[in-house]
Amino acid sequence: MPEMPNDLQIARQAKLRPLGEIARGMGIREEFLEPYGDSVAKVKLGAVEELSDRPRAKYVVVSAITPTPLGEGKTTTTVGLGQAFSHIGKRATVAIRQPAMGPTFGIKGGAAGGGYSQVVPMELLNLHLTGDNHAVTAAHNLLAAMLDNHIHQNDDFFHVDRHSVTWRRVLDVNDRVLRNIIVGLGPQTDGIIRETGFDITAASEVMAILALSTSLRDLRERLGRIVVASDTGGNPITAEDLKAAGAMAVILREAIKPNLMQTFENTPVLVHAGPFGNIAHGNSSVMADLIGIHAGDFLVTEAGFGADMGAERFFNIKCRASGLRPDAAVLVATVRALKAHSGRHRIKAGAPLPPELLAENPDDVHAGAANLLKQIENVRLHGVSPVVAINAFPTDHASEHAAIRSIAEKAGARVALCEHFTRGGAGAVELAEAVAEAAAEPTSFRFLYPEEATLREKIEAVATKVYGASGVEYDFGAARQLDAYERQGFGRLPVCIAKTHLSISSDPNLLGAPMGWTLPVREVRASVGAGFIYPICGEMRTMPGLSRHPAAERIDIDERGEIVGLS
Ligand code: ADP
Ligand code: MG
Repeated sequence: MPEMPNDLQIARQAKLRPLGEIARGMGIREEFLEPYGDSVAKVKLGAVEELSDRPRAKYVVVSAITPTPLGEGKTTTTVGLGQAFSHIGKRATVAIRQPAMGPTFGIKGGAAGGGYSQVVPMELLNLHLTGDNHAVTAAHNLLAAMLDNHIHQNDDFFHVDRHSVTWRRVLDVNDRVLRNIIVGLGPQTDGIIRETGFDITAASEVMAILALSTSLRDLRERLGRIVVASDTGGNPITAEDLKAAGAMAVILREAIKPNLMQTFENTPVLVHAGPFGNIAHGNSSVMADLIGIHAGDFLVTEAGFGADMGAERFFNIKCRASGLRPDAAVLVATVRALKAHSGRHRIKAGAPLPPELLAENPDDVHAGAANLLKQIENVRLHGVSPVVAINAFPTDHASEHAAIRSIAEKAGARVALCEHFTRGGAGAVELAEAVAEAAAEPTSFRFLYPEEATLREKIEAVATKVYGASGVEYDFGAARQLDAYERQGFGRLPVCIAKTHLSISSDPNLLGAPMGWTLPVREVRASVGAGFIYPICGEMRTMPGLSRHPAAERIDIDERGEIVGLS
């Protein structure tokens, strides 16, 4: 078999159509587009109103079994499924997150999908795009500067308890030395000395707000609700108190407009916002979905990590904010991840796959079945029909695909073999048909917990029903924090449990679907503006570092001015 070209080479073969034409296919007139060059345009928010009397698309979320560190192909499958719909005479819109630039130059590489199921031009998507991430960085850091200025000016209106400041600074660069820093060194005029640090921009609450806002007004109000510290009496201090939220909204005025691009096969793609998948909800924007939901027959969107994480937050946080209701959920499964869940193989980031993992072995696939079964159940807990997408890799064997098919069918789920990586949309026709069938069933979508439940009840619902824990254990500080949030009136917010994505449990070493364990809540924090409380279970890195040989070392510009080394 001839070698398949790499992602960047494939992306260069793409025949892009004018964006005006792509938008017309979605029912959006060209005057709603604001072109940024030839291959990306912002969509004005007026498009939501413009499209509102058009029929509602079926809403499909793409999630996965618990992934290995390599990723199992959710973005690739989201793009492949979007493309496949046009092969069965349907029109789809794809909605995905904008990748952070930090990891593009770090270990992960790009996040535009792969093979013949990519968003193009992938170099635009993976780098600055239209600068939304930079706007988030600027808005976030303006608030940080205004807070430190407030402390320095020693305003007698209210006194910030300097030790209670939770608002750090952000940057879209993987830079470990900025995790913990001291600001305010130098003479008195250079501010008050205090310890703080940087997170990556994707971890900013402003990014989560951008992703969850339903309008510019809603964005402005959410920014105002951000809590940055407490005063000396223990009361929360907000961005509104600091009079920063208005200016932050002005900085984000363009960023709130979704970015229109297209796939390799010219399916429309809305790329918008990129909140972290552990301390935030890991889903693309509500704004993009409010447009996409009236732009075709199907709206296909990706939720980060496994169904216990991204899809659970999609259902209980994103759908709560948007008011939209899903019609079907795709669970991406791979032979390699199921083999890893058997506990018989280890997959390490940055290392080649072990040869014994690649050998034909359907028994190992069966031995990892528990994880797939639990994630099927997690989708059904929300009243949504699951469709298992077997994302075929060139190294797989037919007997191993058959093993996944039989596990899914025994559980009563629809299942489809997908070859969209090598064949584009034509390779995912079986999946598109299965999703169309699932979405045609009457929906009985339900949230996992009611808004009125206490924060502890919400945490326990997710831990026991979705993660399979026997119970939850709170450290002293976490319990105190929960009580404080209930007292301050934040108890009605949904929860976003920050835990490892490499296991359904909170221990990355526990594979499959572990039972009989307790979820340890070490600390609880609030993203009041974004609108969720996040209990922290285990160590969460909010500023990645670079590896010994980061991807940036291989990235360059050639003699023709073209990018090389991006994958
Ligand atoms: P996720 O969104 O789940 O993190 P991605 O879609 O980004 O996963 O895929 C992870 C990596 O695996 C990407 O480099 C992608 O190109 C590659 N990949 C995905 N599906 C396949 C496949 N079927 N065959 C080969 N490589 C694939
Ligand atoms: Mg992805």
